[in-house]
Amino acid sequence: MTQMLKYYKGQFVEYEIYKLVDFYDSILRKPTIPFKFESLEDNKKAHYMAFSMAETLSELGGLGLSANQIGLNVSVCAINMGNEIWTMFNPEIIEHSLIPSAYQEGCLSCPGLYLKIPRWETIKVQFQAINGKYVLQEFSGLTAVCVQHELDHLNGVLFTDKVSKIKLEQAKRKVKNNLKKMKKMTVKSKEETKEIQPSNKIVEQQQTPQIKIMESEKKKEDDVKTFVYNTLS
Ligand SMILES: [Zn+2]
Repeated sequence: MTQMLKYYKGQFVEYEIYKLVDFYDSILRKPTIPFKFESLEDNKKAHYMAFSMAETLSELGGLGLSANQIGLNVSVCAINMGNEIWTMFNPEIIEHSLIPSAYQEGCLSCPGLYLKIPRWETIKVQFQAINGKYVLQEFSGLTAVCVQHELDHLNGVLFTDKVSKIKLEQAKRKVKNNLKKMKKMTVKSKEETKEIQPSNKIVEQQQTPQIKIMESEKKKEDDVKTFVYNTLS
């Protein structure tokens, strides 16, 4: 483990780049336990994890990352929102649309495999931010699919569990080709980065993921319940 240091909003923060566990690691099959914000130590741990997960996700170039994918058995995930990365503690879907989503999804733990899974187009999620405060947030489109994928991870469910054996076999046959294409794209994007070297610094700065620290006030139980009207199991 290499400890790294980064300047963020007027202070230095420590983080590390985590390593993905193997796809067959049993930790991916266990529901994660809630992250507890009870002491100053917990808050420090949350801070460290949030930055480390965001940096790891950015490094891996994925859309989402759950804590058990990097060997940590707690309910925390990071989501790539485009220009920033959100880290969510103890996320839960409390409401969803009835419209199905139409995106194919991949998984950092299983590169090259793409599957179409039944997902909701819009979801409302309750989670705790880096400081333990409760947040209610709506997600739609690809981000909503990504959040649903990560929440499955946190419950010990993999996307490969959610399709028929035939569909899984069909998708597996395309993995080799997909990996080749992905490799080509990585090489190409590296070459492109070289070409724009004079302005490289600016580009890098713009792409640095930001940790979203939610400022919302804690919702009371009753407030949260009023949002639930759907058939969530
Ligand atoms: Zn995944």
